Amino acid sequence: MKALRLYAPGDLRLEDIPIPLPCPDEVLLRVLACGICGSDIPRIFEHGTYKYPLIPGHEFSGIVENVGSEMGKDWIGRHVVVYPLIPCRQCSSCYSGLYTQCLNYDYLGSRRDGGFAEYVTVPGSHIIPVPDGVSGVLSAMTEPCAVALHAVRKIPIAVGDTVLVMGAGAIGILIALWARTAGAEVFMTDVVVDKLRFARSLGFKNLLDAMQTHVPDWIKQKCKYGVNVVFETTGFPIGLETAIESCCISGSIVLVGNPACKEMSIGIKQYGMILRKEIHIVGIWNSVINEYPKNEWQVVLEEFRKESDLYKKIVTHEVSIERLKDFLVEMYQKKIFPIKAMFVNKEIESC
Ligand SMILES: [Zn+2]
Ligand SMILES: [Zn+2]
Repeated sequence: MKALRLYAPGDLRLEDIPIPLPCPDEVLLRVLACGICGSDIPRIFEHGTYKYPLIPGHEFSGIVENVGSEMGKDWIGRHVVVYPLIPCRQCSSCYSGLYTQCLNYDYLGSRRDGGFAEYVTVPGSHIIPVPDGVSGVLSAMTEPCAVALHAVRKIPIAVGDTVLVMGAGAIGILIALWARTAGAEVFMTDVVVDKLRFARSLGFKNLLDAMQTHVPDWIKQKCKYGVNVVFETTGFPIGLETAIESCCISGSIVLVGNPACKEMSIGIKQYGMILRKEIHIVGIWNSVINEYPKNEWQVVLEEFRKESDLYKKIVTHEVSIERLKDFLVEMYQKKIFPIKAMFVNKEIESC
Protein backbone atom coordinates (compact mmCIF):
# COMPACT_ATOMS: atom_id res chain seq x y z
CA MET A 1 0.00 0.00 0.00
CA LYS A 2 1.02 3.62 -0.39
CA ALA A 3 1.68 5.40 2.90
CA LEU A 4 3.12 8.75 3.91
CA ARG A 5 5.59 8.06 6.71
CA LEU A 6 7.40 10.51 8.99
CA TYR A 7 11.05 9.65 9.78
CA ALA A 8 11.94 12.84 11.69
CA PRO A 9 10.43 16.33 11.93
CA GLY A 10 10.12 17.52 8.30
CA ASP A 11 11.25 14.16 6.83
CA LEU A 12 8.11 12.79 5.16
CA ARG A 13 8.38 9.96 2.64
CA LEU A 14 5.75 8.47 0.36
CA GLU A 15 6.49 4.73 0.45
CA ASP A 16 5.15 1.39 -0.73
CA ILE A 17 4.83 -0.84 2.35
CA PRO A 18 2.96 -4.08 3.15
CA ILE A 19 -0.71 -3.79 4.16
CA PRO A 20 -0.80 -4.30 7.97
CA LEU A 21 -2.53 -7.34 9.48
CA PRO A 22 -5.21 -6.75 12.13
CA CYS A 23 -4.57 -8.20 15.64
CA PRO A 24 -7.42 -10.38 17.03
CA ASP A 25 -9.29 -7.36 18.47
CA GLU A 26 -8.60 -5.03 15.52
CA VAL A 27 -10.03 -4.33 12.10
CA LEU A 28 -8.27 -3.39 8.86
CA LEU A 29 -9.72 -0.31 7.20
CA ARG A 30 -9.37 0.83 3.63
CA VAL A 31 -9.07 4.56 4.19
CA LEU A 32 -11.73 6.65 2.43
CA ALA A 33 -10.50 10.06 3.56
CA CYS A 34 -8.26 11.57 6.23
CA GLY A 35 -8.45 15.22 7.26
CA ILE A 36 -5.38 17.38 7.87
CA CYS A 37 -5.69 18.74 11.41
CA GLY A 38 -4.17 22.08 12.44
CA SER A 39 -2.15 20.06 14.97
CA ASP A 40 -0.66 17.86 12.20
CA ILE A 41 1.43 20.72 10.79
CA PRO A 42 3.57 21.42 13.91
CA ARG A 43 3.58 17.68 14.67
CA ILE A 44 5.01 16.81 11.24
CA PHE A 45 7.38 19.75 10.76
CA GLU A 46 8.46 20.78 14.27
CA HIS A 47 7.69 18.58 17.31
CA GLY A 48 7.71 15.19 15.60
CA THR A 49 5.86 12.07 16.71
CA TYR A 50 6.42 9.55 19.52
CA LYS A 51 8.11 6.93 17.33
CA TYR A 52 9.56 6.63 13.82
CA PRO A 53 8.73 5.88 11.15
CA LEU A 54 5.08 6.77 11.77
CA ILE A 55 2.07 7.41 9.53
CA PRO A 56 0.34 10.62 10.73
CA GLY A 57 -3.38 11.43 10.37
CA HIS A 58 -6.05 11.01 13.06
CA GLU A 59 -9.25 12.29 11.36
CA PHE A 60 -10.23 9.44 9.07
CA SER A 61 -13.03 7.31 7.72
CA GLY A 62 -12.81 3.96 6.02
CA ILE A 63 -14.42 0.74 4.88
CA VAL A 64 -13.76 -2.37 6.98
CA GLU A 65 -11.73 -4.60 4.68
CA ASN A 66 -10.87 -7.38 7.12
CA VAL A 67 -11.31 -8.25 10.81
CA GLY A 68 -9.21 -9.87 13.53
CA SER A 69 -10.25 -13.28 14.92
CA GLU A 70 -12.19 -11.75 17.86
CA MET A 71 -14.20 -9.36 15.69
CA GLY A 72 -17.53 -10.20 14.01
CA LYS A 73 -17.33 -10.80 10.26
CA ASP A 74 -20.46 -8.65 9.78
CA TRP A 75 -18.27 -5.56 10.13
CA ILE A 76 -16.69 -6.30 6.74
CA GLY A 77 -17.79 -3.79 4.11
CA ARG A 78 -19.15 -1.24 6.60
CA HIS A 79 -18.35 2.46 6.47
CA VAL A 80 -16.94 3.57 9.83
CA VAL A 81 -15.10 6.38 11.59
CA VAL A 82 -12.50 5.88 14.31
CA TYR A 83 -12.11 7.53 17.72
CA PRO A 84 -8.33 8.15 17.70
CA LEU A 85 -7.53 8.20 21.44
CA ILE A 86 -6.89 4.70 22.79
CA PRO A 87 -6.99 4.67 26.60
CA CYS A 88 -4.94 2.17 28.66
CA ARG A 89 -8.05 1.16 30.72
CA GLN A 90 -5.75 0.64 33.70
CA CYS A 91 -4.90 4.09 35.12
CA SER A 92 -6.89 6.09 37.70
CA SER A 93 -8.54 8.24 35.01
CA CYS A 94 -9.64 5.19 33.07
CA TYR A 95 -11.02 3.58 36.24
CA SER A 96 -13.10 6.74 36.74
CA GLY A 97 -14.41 6.50 33.16
CA LEU A 98 -12.50 9.64 32.10
CA TYR A 99 -10.88 7.97 29.11
CA THR A 100 -9.79 11.21 27.41
CA GLN A 101 -7.79 11.97 30.58
CA CYS A 102 -5.97 8.62 30.41
CA LEU A 103 -2.44 8.92 31.83
CA ASN A 104 -0.97 6.41 29.41
CA TYR A 105 -2.93 6.62 26.17
CA ASP A 106 -2.10 5.55 22.64
CA TYR A 107 -3.14 7.79 19.74
CA LEU A 108 -3.70 7.01 16.08
CA GLY A 109 -1.55 9.28 13.94
CA SER A 110 0.88 10.46 16.63
CA ARG A 111 1.78 7.41 18.76
CA ARG A 112 0.77 4.66 16.34
CA ASP A 113 0.07 4.61 12.59
CA GLY A 114 -2.82 6.75 11.39
CA GLY A 115 -4.74 7.55 8.23
CA PHE A 116 -2.31 9.08 5.72
CA ALA A 117 -2.18 5.70 3.97
CA GLU A 118 -4.37 3.46 1.85
CA TYR A 119 -4.97 1.08 4.77
CA VAL A 120 -4.76 1.23 8.57
CA THR A 121 -5.47 -1.18 11.43
CA VAL A 122 -7.50 0.16 14.36
CA PRO A 123 -8.97 -1.29 17.58
CA GLY A 124 -12.41 -2.81 16.92
CA SER A 125 -13.76 -1.10 20.05
CA HIS A 126 -13.04 2.31 18.50
CA ILE A 127 -15.01 2.08 15.26
CA ILE A 128 -18.37 3.81 14.91
CA PRO A 129 -20.71 3.02 12.00
CA VAL A 130 -21.59 5.92 9.70
CA PRO A 131 -25.26 6.40 8.73
CA ASP A 132 -26.30 6.02 5.07
CA GLY A 133 -26.22 9.28 3.14
CA VAL A 134 -23.00 10.53 4.76
CA SER A 135 -20.02 10.36 2.37
CA GLY A 136 -16.54 9.17 3.33
CA VAL A 137 -15.21 12.70 2.92
CA LEU A 138 -17.86 14.16 5.21
CA SER A 139 -17.56 11.40 7.82
CA ALA A 140 -13.78 12.03 8.02
CA MET A 141 -14.72 15.36 9.58
CA THR A 142 -16.44 13.67 12.54
CA GLU A 143 -13.47 14.06 14.91
CA PRO A 144 -12.94 17.85 14.54
CA CYS A 145 -16.71 18.40 14.54
CA ALA A 146 -16.99 16.40 17.78
CA VAL A 147 -14.18 18.48 19.33
CA ALA A 148 -16.15 21.62 18.39
CA LEU A 149 -19.31 20.13 19.87
CA HIS A 150 -17.43 19.23 23.06
CA ALA A 151 -16.33 22.89 23.36
CA VAL A 152 -19.87 24.22 22.86
CA ARG A 153 -21.31 21.71 25.33
CA LYS A 154 -18.82 22.83 27.99
CA ILE A 155 -20.79 26.03 28.70
CA PRO A 156 -24.58 26.16 28.70
CA ILE A 157 -25.67 28.44 25.83
CA ALA A 158 -29.23 29.79 25.84
CA VAL A 159 -31.25 31.15 22.91
CA GLY A 160 -30.31 34.81 22.48
CA ASP A 161 -26.87 34.52 24.10
CA THR A 162 -23.99 36.24 22.34
CA VAL A 163 -20.92 34.22 21.37
CA LEU A 164 -17.56 35.37 20.01
CA VAL A 165 -15.49 32.80 18.11
CA MET A 166 -11.89 33.86 17.69
CA GLY A 167 -10.36 32.18 14.64
CA ALA A 168 -12.33 31.10 11.55
CA GLY A 169 -10.38 27.90 10.79
CA ALA A 170 -12.16 24.55 10.69
CA ILE A 171 -12.62 24.29 14.46
CA GLY A 172 -13.75 27.93 14.75
CA ILE A 173 -16.27 27.48 11.90
CA LEU A 174 -17.58 24.22 13.39
CA ILE A 175 -17.93 25.84 16.84
CA ALA A 176 -19.79 28.76 15.23
CA LEU A 177 -22.19 26.34 13.52
CA TRP A 178 -22.94 24.51 16.79
CA ALA A 179 -23.36 27.80 18.68
CA ARG A 180 -25.77 29.02 15.99
CA THR A 181 -27.69 25.73 16.24
CA ALA A 182 -27.86 26.25 20.01
CA GLY A 183 -29.57 29.61 19.40
CA ALA A 184 -26.73 32.08 19.98
CA GLU A 185 -25.92 35.22 18.01
CA VAL A 186 -22.42 34.51 16.69
CA PHE A 187 -19.55 36.95 16.14
CA MET A 188 -16.37 35.74 14.48
CA THR A 189 -12.88 37.17 13.91
CA ASP A 190 -9.77 36.13 12.02
CA VAL A 191 -6.71 37.78 10.48
CA VAL A 192 -7.07 35.92 7.15
CA VAL A 193 -9.72 37.65 5.04
CA ASP A 194 -10.36 34.54 2.91
CA LYS A 195 -11.42 32.62 6.02
CA LEU A 196 -13.90 35.36 6.91
CA ARG A 197 -15.22 35.29 3.34
CA PHE A 198 -15.74 31.58 3.71
CA ALA A 199 -17.64 32.10 6.99
CA ARG A 200 -19.85 34.60 5.16
CA SER A 201 -20.67 31.95 2.55
CA LEU A 202 -22.09 29.80 5.39
CA GLY A 203 -24.45 32.60 6.39
CA PHE A 204 -22.47 34.26 9.19
CA LYS A 205 -22.80 38.04 9.15
CA ASN A 206 -20.98 39.42 12.19
CA LEU A 207 -17.41 39.04 10.94
CA LEU A 208 -14.33 41.10 11.63
CA ASP A 209 -10.78 41.29 10.29
CA ALA A 210 -8.85 41.48 13.57
CA MET A 211 -5.87 43.08 11.77
CA GLN A 212 -7.94 46.14 10.91
CA THR A 213 -10.13 46.78 13.96
CA HIS A 214 -9.71 46.38 17.73
CA VAL A 215 -11.93 43.38 18.52
CA PRO A 216 -13.14 44.46 22.03
CA ASP A 217 -14.21 47.88 20.65
CA TRP A 218 -16.15 46.18 17.86
CA ILE A 219 -17.79 43.79 20.35
CA LYS A 220 -18.81 46.68 22.64
CA GLN A 221 -20.47 48.43 19.69
CA LYS A 222 -22.44 45.27 18.94
CA CYS A 223 -23.27 44.23 22.50
CA LYS A 224 -22.77 46.90 25.14
CA TYR A 225 -21.63 44.68 28.02
CA GLY A 226 -19.56 42.19 26.04
CA VAL A 227 -20.43 38.68 24.91
CA ASN A 228 -21.65 35.84 27.14
CA VAL A 229 -19.16 33.29 25.84
CA VAL A 230 -15.86 33.49 23.94
CA PHE A 231 -14.31 30.49 22.19
CA GLU A 232 -10.58 31.08 21.75
CA THR A 233 -9.26 28.86 18.93
CA THR A 234 -6.13 30.79 17.85
CA GLY A 235 -3.80 29.76 20.69
CA PHE A 236 -2.10 33.18 20.79
CA PRO A 237 -1.76 35.19 24.05
CA ILE A 238 -3.31 38.19 22.29
CA GLY A 239 -6.28 35.94 21.60
CA LEU A 240 -6.75 35.26 25.30
CA GLU A 241 -6.32 38.95 26.16
CA THR A 242 -8.91 39.87 23.54
CA ALA A 243 -11.24 37.20 24.87
CA ILE A 244 -10.96 38.60 28.41
CA GLU A 245 -11.62 42.17 27.20
CA SER A 246 -14.60 41.08 25.04
CA CYS A 247 -16.29 38.93 27.70
CA CYS A 248 -19.19 40.25 29.81
CA ILE A 249 -19.33 40.24 33.63
CA SER A 250 -19.63 36.61 34.82
CA GLY A 251 -19.09 35.51 31.22
CA SER A 252 -17.16 32.44 30.11
CA ILE A 253 -14.08 31.78 28.00
CA VAL A 254 -13.48 28.35 26.50
CA LEU A 255 -9.85 27.71 25.52
CA VAL A 256 -9.76 25.47 22.46
CA GLY A 257 -6.62 26.32 20.45
CA ASN A 258 -3.30 24.62 21.17
CA PRO A 259 -0.61 27.15 22.20
CA ALA A 260 0.70 28.76 19.01
CA CYS A 261 3.87 30.30 20.51
CA LYS A 262 6.46 29.56 23.19
CA GLU A 263 5.29 32.09 25.82
CA MET A 264 1.64 32.22 26.83
CA SER A 265 1.63 35.23 29.18
CA ILE A 266 -1.07 37.89 29.49
CA GLY A 267 -0.99 41.53 30.59
CA ILE A 268 -1.71 42.69 34.14
CA LYS A 269 -4.73 44.68 32.92
CA GLN A 270 -6.39 41.60 31.46
CA TYR A 271 -5.42 39.52 34.49
CA GLY A 272 -7.21 42.09 36.67
CA MET A 273 -10.29 41.87 34.43
CA ILE A 274 -10.58 38.12 35.08
CA LEU A 275 -10.91 38.94 38.78
CA ARG A 276 -13.14 42.00 38.53
CA LYS A 277 -15.52 40.51 35.99
CA GLU A 278 -15.41 37.08 37.70
CA ILE A 279 -14.78 35.45 34.34
CA HIS A 280 -15.07 31.69 34.12
CA ILE A 281 -12.18 30.20 32.06
CA VAL A 282 -12.26 26.56 31.03
CA GLY A 283 -10.17 24.36 28.74
CA ILE A 284 -11.27 21.51 26.53
CA TRP A 285 -9.50 18.38 25.40
CA ASN A 286 -10.67 16.04 22.62
CA SER A 287 -14.25 14.78 22.60
CA VAL A 288 -16.06 11.95 24.36
CA ILE A 289 -17.66 8.79 23.01
CA ASN A 290 -18.53 7.05 26.28
CA GLU A 291 -21.55 9.12 27.32
CA TYR A 292 -24.98 7.65 27.78
CA PRO A 293 -27.45 7.92 26.06
CA LYS A 294 -26.01 9.98 23.18
CA ASN A 295 -22.31 10.54 22.73
CA GLU A 296 -20.76 13.44 20.88
CA TRP A 297 -19.72 11.36 17.87
CA GLN A 298 -23.27 10.11 17.37
CA VAL A 299 -24.64 13.64 17.64
CA VAL A 300 -22.18 14.74 14.94
CA LEU A 301 -22.96 11.86 12.58
CA GLU A 302 -26.68 12.51 12.96
CA GLU A 303 -26.13 16.21 12.21
CA PHE A 304 -24.06 15.28 9.11
CA ARG A 305 -26.92 13.07 7.90
CA LYS A 306 -29.43 15.91 8.29
CA GLU A 307 -27.22 18.81 7.15
CA SER A 308 -24.90 17.08 4.71
CA ASP A 309 -24.96 19.91 2.11
CA LEU A 310 -23.92 22.51 4.68
CA TYR A 311 -21.09 20.51 6.28
CA LYS A 312 -19.75 19.28 2.91
CA LYS A 313 -18.81 22.88 2.07
CA ILE A 314 -16.25 22.94 4.89
CA VAL A 315 -14.01 20.49 3.01
CA THR A 316 -12.35 23.07 0.77
CA HIS A 317 -9.42 20.99 -0.54
CA GLU A 318 -9.11 17.30 -1.52
CA VAL A 319 -5.70 15.83 -2.35
CA SER A 320 -4.40 12.42 -3.43
CA ILE A 321 -1.76 10.51 -1.46
CA GLU A 322 0.77 11.37 -4.19
CA ARG A 323 0.15 15.11 -3.73
CA LEU A 324 -0.26 15.03 0.07
CA LYS A 325 3.37 15.65 1.05
CA ASP A 326 3.74 18.79 -1.10
CA PHE A 327 0.38 20.02 0.10
CA LEU A 328 1.42 19.68 3.77
CA VAL A 329 4.63 21.60 3.00
CA GLU A 330 2.60 24.40 1.38
CA MET A 331 0.37 24.56 4.45
CA TYR A 332 3.44 24.75 6.72
CA GLN A 333 4.91 27.53 4.57
CA LYS A 334 1.56 29.36 4.80
CA LYS A 335 1.18 29.43 1.01
CA ILE A 336 -2.35 28.05 1.30
CA PHE A 337 -5.02 28.47 3.99
CA PRO A 338 -7.51 25.65 3.60
CA ILE A 339 -10.49 25.56 5.95
CA LYS A 340 -10.45 21.74 5.95
CA ALA A 341 -8.13 19.88 3.61
CA MET A 342 -8.25 16.13 3.20
CA PHE A 343 -6.36 13.25 1.74
CA VAL A 344 -9.04 11.45 -0.28
CA ASN A 345 -8.56 7.96 -1.62
CA LYS A 346 -9.81 8.68 -5.14
CA GLU A 347 -10.16 5.03 -6.10
CA ILE A 348 -13.02 4.45 -3.68
CA GLU A 349 -14.25 8.02 -3.30
CA SER A 350 -17.70 7.12 -4.70
CA CYS A 351 -18.49 5.40 -1.39
ZN1 LIG B 1 -7.52 16.94 14.98
ZN1 LIG C 1 -5.68 5.06 31.22
